[in-house]
Amino acid sequence: MTTSNSGPRAGASKHLGAAVAVALLLTPLAALLGPGVASSPAGMLLWTPPLVPIFLLGLHRGWVGAAHGLALALGAVALAGVTGALSGSPVADIAGLLGLAGAYGVVALGTGFVSEHLHEARLAAEEVALTDELTGLPNRRHAEIFLDAAVASAERGIPMTVVLFDLDHFKRVNDTLGHQAGDDALRIVADVLRSCTRKSNLSARIGGEEFLVILSNCNLHGGMIFAERFRTVLKERAQALGLTVSAGVATFQPGCGSREALIAAADEALYEAKASGRDCVRASSTLIAPIRRGVAAA
Ligand code: GH3
Ligand code: MG
Ligand code: MG
Repeated sequence: MTTSNSGPRAGASKHLGAAVAVALLLTPLAALLGPGVASSPAGMLLWTPPLVPIFLLGLHRGWVGAAHGLALALGAVALAGVTGALSGSPVADIAGLLGLAGAYGVVALGTGFVSEHLHEARLAAEEVALTDELTGLPNRRHAEIFLDAAVASAERGIPMTVVLFDLDHFKRVNDTLGHQAGDDALRIVADVLRSCTRKSNLSARIGGEEFLVILSNCNLHGGMIFAERFRTVLKERAQALGLTVSAGVATFQPGCGSREALIAAADEALYEAKASGRDCVRASSTLIAPIRRGVAAA
C-alpha cells in the first residue's frame, strides 16, 4: 500500500498539529491573566490543556507520541512558570509542579499503553484479513491491493507481469488420497512458491488451487522464466503426488486496461496451457500486442 503526503492524511496531521499548538499555548497565556489565577481552585483547570498533546500524540503514534506529548506538556508548564514569574503572578510552588509532572507522566504511560495495544490488535486483524488460513500465503484481497499499486506503477512505465497458476487435475489428489492430503499438497505448493518469490513481489492463493504471482519491475520474458522455474521445482518437490501445474503469463502495458483485463489475459493464457495438455506455461497475446508491433516495426 502506498501513502501520500497530500490528501486526507496530511490534512488530519495538520489539524492534529494545530490542536496540539493551541493546547500548549493556553496554559502559558493563562499564567499572564493575573496573580494567583492559575493556582486558584477554578484556575486549576488551566493545567488541563497540556494533557491534550499527550492524548492526541499518544493515541496517534503510541509510546513515541506519548513521550513527545509529555515532553511538550512539561515544556508548556515550564513556559507557564516563566511567563507567570515575568508577569508577577507565580503559577504554582515546586511541590505543585512536581505533582503535576507526575500526573502528566501517569497519563502518558496509560495513553501509550492503550495506543500500542490498539495498534497491535489492528495489525493482527489486518494480518488475518489479508492471509489465507490454510497456506499462510497472502489471500485474494491482499493480491488485489498489491495489484492496484503495481498497476499504478505500471501506468507510469515500470513493467509488471502476473502469473496465474492452477494445479493440474487437483481433484484427483483429493479423490485418491483424501482431502487432508490435498490440503498438505496445497501447503507444499505454498512453500515452493514462497521460496521462489522475491520480497518485492507477491505470491497469493486466490482460489482453491489457484495462485497468482505479481512480479514488479518484470517483463513478459522474466515472467515466463519465473513460471517455468516454479513449474519445474514444484514438479520435483511434489513428485510423490504426481502433482503438476499449468501457468498463464501476462504483462501490463501502460494504457492497455485495468487490473481485471490483465488477470483476464493471464487466465486466457492459462486456459491455453490447460488445452495444450497441462504441465506447461503459456504467454498471453492480449496485452503484449504493443511490444510485438514495436518489434515488427524495427
Ligand atoms: P484442472 O487441471 O482442469 O484444473 O483440474 P482440477 O481437478 O484441478 O480442477 P477442478 O476445478 O475440477 O477441481 C479443483 C479441485 O480443487 C476441486 C476441489 O476439491 C479442490 N480444492 C479446492 N480448494 C481446496 C482446498 O482448500 N483443499 C483441498 N484439499 N482441495 C481443494
Ligand atoms: Mg482451478
Ligand atoms: Mg486445477
